[in-house]
Amino acid sequence: MAKKIDKKDISGLLSRWQQEFAVLVPSKDGNTTRMALWDGKDTGFLEWYRNVTVPPKEIFFPSQEEMFRFQKDKEGYHLEVPPPEESKRLIFAIRPCDASAMTMLDYVFESDYEDPYYLSRRKNTMLVGLGCTNPYSSCFCTSVGGDPSDASNVDIMLMDLGDAFLVDGVTDAGKELVGRTEGLVEGSKSDLARAAEVKKESQKKIMRKLDTKDIEQKLLSCFEDKDYWEKVSAKCVACGICTLLCPTCHCFDINDEMTKKQGARVRSWDSCAFSCYTKMPMENPREDKWRRVRQKVCHKYEFFPMNFGVIACVGCARCVRFCPVNWDITRTIESVPAAPATAAEK
Ligand code: SF4
Ligand code: SF4
Repeated sequence: MAKKIDKKDISGLLSRWQQEFAVLVPSKDGNTTRMALWDGKDTGFLEWYRNVTVPPKEIFFPSQEEMFRFQKDKEGYHLEVPPPEESKRLIFAIRPCDASAMTMLDYVFESDYEDPYYLSRRKNTMLVGLGCTNPYSSCFCTSVGGDPSDASNVDIMLMDLGDAFLVDGVTDAGKELVGRTEGLVEGSKSDLARAAEVKKESQKKIMRKLDTKDIEQKLLSCFEDKDYWEKVSAKCVACGICTLLCPTCHCFDINDEMTKKQGARVRSWDSCAFSCYTKMPMENPREDKWRRVRQKVCHKYEFFPMNFGVIACVGCARCVRFCPVNWDITRTIESVPAAPATAAEK
């Protein structure tokens, strides 16, 4: 049976968890919001939080990080590699779409090459999800396999019952933590019934629907349709915001920052929206803006499904809300021309 906690007791719950974990909660950071270390008192986020602007991917895959330092002497180069991060973290109130995006990033960072920086943080972080009861009008998670109450990518799931949260352990680690956390009381049958109602109501609040049927085939067949992609990309100003704030985007650049004999290898977020991205000594294969916009759309809705069997878009709609020129990925997906009928279909 799930447990329950009154919202007025959340501070106590976070304090208890803070004894064991570095607890991150939705936080204001100037004009933006992101998951950041809890200050030990402020639970005001319970009033304003819908989702954070900067997705929690930055906790596992920071916008900039030093991979190692190096020094050169007569014998050659000497490397100083940082030890894997072992500190235990807990992200409180991650939204189901962002938790699902983390599962997608796992495919990337542990497939062909295991990324020790990302994976050590991932292994040591507990995800406590919070179902959405006040999604944005732009959200479209239910069209890309998600759900505002989806618990499948978190360790512990919270459902908002109004004055209280239902607290459900999902993974073994989550169940174990819920089982030994003081201050949680048994949820009643009426709490479970209320949670089921909240789930249904939340689904109905996702107003934006997107037809993704056959999208891989459609994108494949219009890949060379320059006129279509030029039209679609016309108003994009290539600022990169849509990719940097996307919870599933994961492109990075690596640079050596050095003085004469020492330096550091630094990894930084990059974006396929930028004209210098993929620039090579011989040529830049995506010099035209339409090719870069095509890459962004096809990577999420065609190439990632081909490689990993899942659309790399979780419908969080950050790219819709924060684009300075109102470019909207849902309109693009809806406008992709139908694939020509195959001989068997004719
Ligand atoms: S946020 Fe908008 S303008 Fe900026 S790169 Fe993305 S689509 Fe283009
Ligand atoms: S493409 Fe847009 S809607 Fe999809 S996951 Fe990225 S930011 Fe969210």
